[in-house]
Amino acid sequence: MSELRIDLDAFAANLARIRAVVAPAEHMLVVKDDAYAQGVERIVQRAWQEGVHWFGAYEVGNATRVRGVLGSDARVFVWMLRGVDDVRRAVAARLDLGIGTEQLLEDVASAVADDDVAVRVHLKIDTGLHRNGVRPERWSAFVTRAAELERAGRIEVVGVWSHIAEASDVEDDDARAVFDAAVATARAAGLAVPLRHLAASAAAFARPEFRYDMVRVGAFAYGVRPAGGPGDDALGITPVASLVAQVADADDETVRLDLGSAGGLPSILRGAEIVTPGGRRVVHDITLRDMTVDGWPGAQPGDEVVVFGASGVSATDLAERIDTIGEEILLRVSPRIPRRYT
Ligand SMILES: *Cc1c(COP(=O)(O)O)cnc(C)c1O
Repeated sequence: MSELRIDLDAFAANLARIRAVVAPAEHMLVVKDDAYAQGVERIVQRAWQEGVHWFGAYEVGNATRVRGVLGSDARVFVWMLRGVDDVRRAVAARLDLGIGTEQLLEDVASAVADDDVAVRVHLKIDTGLHRNGVRPERWSAFVTRAAELERAGRIEVVGVWSHIAEASDVEDDDARAVFDAAVATARAAGLAVPLRHLAASAAAFARPEFRYDMVRVGAFAYGVRPAGGPGDDALGITPVASLVAQVADADDETVRLDLGSAGGLPSILRGAEIVTPGGRRVVHDITLRDMTVDGWPGAQPGDEVVVFGASGVSATDLAERIDTIGEEILLRVSPRIPRRYT
C-alpha cells in the first residue's frame, strides 16, 4: 500500500541546520496544516527533543494539539483567531496570541478575568501584505491602548511581528523599514518588545538583517525548498517526507502503481518523472486510483516507487512542473494515506 514516509532523523538534521544558520535568533517551528501534512504530534515531539521551544500553530485547534503533546512549557503561537470563543479557548490553553486588529485586542482583554495571569500577545503591524495586521497610520493608537492594557495586568506584550512576501528584496526592504518604525513606536509607548519576528524560511536564510530575535520557519524544517529558488544542497536541507507507492502490476512496457489522484497526486502531473527501482521513469497517466509509468526490467508487484521525497525528485521538483510550490504538493496528500515514521 502507498504511504507517506517521514524520516524524523532528517527532520532533526534540518532543525540543526536552521539553528546554525539563524543563531542567535530563535527558531519558531511552524506546524500549521498538520505540520505540513507530516503529522503534528510526532513532529512537535521530535522538535522538542531537539531543543525547539516555540511552535507556530496558526489556529487554536492545532495549537491545543501541540499543548496536549508537549505540556505547559512549550510556547505555542496562534495568529488565526475567529471570534470570541476562539479567544477564550486560546486564553485557557495559555497560548501566545498574534493580534492584528484593534477589535481582537479588546476581545482578548475582556476574555481575561481580573484574577487571571496576563495573556501573552504579539502585536502585528501590516507591513504591506494586507493580510491582517494594524495599518501604520493606526499603529500609534493601537500600541498606546496595548500599553494601557499591559499596565492593567490584562496582557503582556511579548512581541511585535509581521509577515512579508519574500518575493522581492526591494519590497521586503520597504516592509522592514515599516517594521522597524513600528517597533520604535511601540517602545516609545512604553512597551518593552522583547521579541521581534518577521522572517519565514526564505528570508531567514538569505537575509540576516531579517532575523531579529526569532524566525518563523516551516518549509525548510521539512526540507521543502522554494520553487525557483536555491536547491537543497545550497540550503543544507533534505526532504523529510517521501511519498511511496507500490507496484500493483507490471508488464515489459508499463507499470501500474497503487496511487492516484484520490491519494492526492494532481493528475496534471502526467509527464513528470519519478524515481523507480529501474531509475527515473515518466508518468503516463494518473487516474483516481492509480498511475502508470514506463516499465523497467524485473518490475514486480509490491516493489516500491518513490513519487517524491528523499529519492532525488522532491515535492518542489514536481511543483515546478505545474507552477506551484512544494507545500501544495505535500498538502494534497490525502489524510487517508498512512503516515509512517522512521
Ligand atoms: C506559513 C507561515 C510561516 C512559515 O513559512 P515557511 O515559508 O513555510 O517557512 C511563517 N509565518 C507565517 C505568518 C506563516 O503563515
